[in-house]
Amino acid sequence: MRVYYDKDADLSIIQNMQVTVVGYGSQGHAHANNLRDSGVSNIRVGLRPGGGSWAKAEAAGFQVAPVAEAVVGADLVMILTPDEHQQRIYAEEIAPNIKDGGAIAFAHGFNIHFGLIEPREDLDVVMIAPKGPGHTVRSTYTEGGGVPSLIAVGRDPGGQAKEIALSYACAIGAGRAAIIETNFREETETDLFGEQAVLCGGAAALVTAGFETLVEAGYAPEMAYFECLHELKLIVDFFYEGGVGNMWYTVSNTAEYGGLTRGSRIVTDDTKREMKRILTEIQSGRFAREFVSENQAGAPTIKAMRRMSQDHEIERVGERLRAMMPWIQANKLVDRAKN
Ligand code: NDP
Ligand code: MG
Repeated sequence: MRVYYDKDADLSIIQNMQVTVVGYGSQGHAHANNLRDSGVSNIRVGLRPGGGSWAKAEAAGFQVAPVAEAVVGADLVMILTPDEHQQRIYAEEIAPNIKDGGAIAFAHGFNIHFGLIEPREDLDVVMIAPKGPGHTVRSTYTEGGGVPSLIAVGRDPGGQAKEIALSYACAIGAGRAAIIETNFREETETDLFGEQAVLCGGAAALVTAGFETLVEAGYAPEMAYFECLHELKLIVDFFYEGGVGNMWYTVSNTAEYGGLTRGSRIVTDDTKREMKRILTEIQSGRFAREFVSENQAGAPTIKAMRRMSQDHEIERVGERLRAMMPWIQANKLVDRAKN
């Protein structure tokens, strides 16, 4: 596996390009701002008129236009709208307007790997996929660091696709951390698995089940919140800094013994079998088909599940407790008025 850094890339490639960033959400605002701060002077943001982020992008000083207009003349178009909108936006607004021999880029391989977008033959197709939330891509960059990112080349009619991807990755800060070369299949399948089984799905389910167990046993919801949610960040910081062993080193011997002997009763052989089933659904395209039809039907499942999750007691308790800890909000990564 090859890993690249700033020294391996030619930043001037992207600095000399006209870049259009489509979408100004989690990833979009981070890419646009990091590119600009890295000396990419010709940036446009493509959005839908009337949408919530138009004013945010303008307030940040970007030239904003409807997607079909913003991609005209662009050398590279980075597509950063939600995955479920990309097929239509590409077909109706990008493909008819992007110049011959231009490049399109993605931060996740979903639409290319599952064949929802079949790019025009003359276009370079690349991926620059930060391995972190967009708000962290921005905050880490402003602190002088970067979020490790994957790059991949889907198609290379221009013969320079990898150099372009490397250059772009450095401009968003990834070359300060690590740029790892992969392919669309590997990125898409591992990314979906990680977010479903461990990072988002697994972690949220674990925290919620722990909270419910304590509350159902009669303990105060505030205690349960601190124990099962708030403290998780403190523990994860040790994973991040020095791996699992670093965490075992810092906790008490009591916590270490209890954790080592009980953890595998929580994540059991059954859990791992289920993880394998989840991976198989991703690999076979079954998850992708399910997500596409969910969106064609107007996203009923995700809307209902969002509501249920917002109404959960852990969220109400959390809101109250966080209001008493103003330092958490002082430097918050997500500010819905701006990004
Ligand atoms: P967001 O949900 O944050 O994107 C929202 C942005 O897309 C808004 O600016 C929104 O504008 C715009 N948008 C939505 N629909 C349209 C449309 N029809 N036409 C024009 N603009 C539109 O997306 P993410 O940043 O979460 O994801 C972007 C890509 O990055 C995805 O491919 C995702 O998989 C990938 N990715 C995301 C990560 C993350 O941290 N979230 C991590 C790594 C990769 P409006 O205000 O008008 O709604
Ligand atoms: Mg992901």
